[in-house]
Amino acid sequence: MDHAGRRARLLQRFDDLGVDAFCTGHLPNVRYLSGFSGSNGHLVVGVRAGVFLTDGRYTDQARREVADLDRVTYAGPPAAAMAQAIGRIGAARVAFEPEHLTYQAWADLADAGVELVAVRGVVEALRETKDAEEIGLIQMAQDAADQAFESIVAKLDEGVTEREVAIELEAAMRRAGADGVAFDTIVAFGPDGAEPHHRPTDRPLAPGDLVTMDLGALVQGYHSDMTRTVAFGQPEARLREVYEAVRRAQRAGVDAVRAGVAGRHVDRAARDQIRQAGLGDGFVHPLGHGVGLEIHEGPWLRATADGLLPERSVVTVEPGVYLPGLGGVRIEDMVEVLDGHGRVLARAPKDLVIL
Ligand code: ZN
Ligand code: ZN
Repeated sequence: MDHAGRRARLLQRFDDLGVDAFCTGHLPNVRYLSGFSGSNGHLVVGVRAGVFLTDGRYTDQARREVADLDRVTYAGPPAAAMAQAIGRIGAARVAFEPEHLTYQAWADLADAGVELVAVRGVVEALRETKDAEEIGLIQMAQDAADQAFESIVAKLDEGVTEREVAIELEAAMRRAGADGVAFDTIVAFGPDGAEPHHRPTDRPLAPGDLVTMDLGALVQGYHSDMTRTVAFGQPEARLREVYEAVRRAQRAGVDAVRAGVAGRHVDRAARDQIRQAGLGDGFVHPLGHGVGLEIHEGPWLRATADGLLPERSVVTVEPGVYLPGLGGVRIEDMVEVLDGHGRVLARAPKDLVIL
């Protein structure tokens, strides 16, 4: 990974931001800029030099992963060590991330005489555009989820519980090479599908149930995200109609994805299909989100998203309809944003599978 190149792109923003250094302890941003994959690390990026700071648990790991920066291991409060590092590189005005830095750390840095400038979403914006290596890791994470989905379909039997299916999906993703799961797997049978983020229970699978499975894997820090809804036996006619409406919306959303289009335009393209089916009130969340070092990141696909999708970003397209008491349907793919079109990363089928 080209961490130095990423830091160089961050430096190009310094004039606009009016700063001569940037500090972050937000782990996805630390990892993006330095390669560090541990659970505690801070970074100060200055014009001439950068410093990576962590605690004693990670001294060795940092030596391997952050070979091209000065490294500091601290024992006391991180803010004191950061203030020292900022002084050492001679920075005067330091950008910090108000949505990530704790108030305590902010106060400690200010007490130490650091002049702090709040900047929002700068590294997050850089992260939206993926390089080939990042796309490759997201694809590997998706491939693991696809394998898990294929293996579970044969195991959906009457009486199996949501919890058992979730455990099996997670194990299958690990067997397929994932480092872990991208998020807690969602499995919802029948009426439970009316909750978009249902937590798996001991509910047993019954004939006629729709089964919604939302799963993702983690590979070298990169996430995947996919939802499929399948039918266990013949679902009632109403649920079939809902499925077909969501299927049309998902297709319209994927078809609207291309570099340079506004996120809200893609949301609208999918939402219109669900409204036309008279189900608009049941689509209770935005259409999608970016995926990368975080499971939810920019760019966003929602009614208020004016931002244009950058080429080589990765977004989900995940319309859903949720009907309390009856059930729900969601279909979700990750789509790579390309010039003139989008590329779906998943290979699992989207026409209704009736088991
Ligand atoms: Zn999902
Ligand atoms: Zn998602």
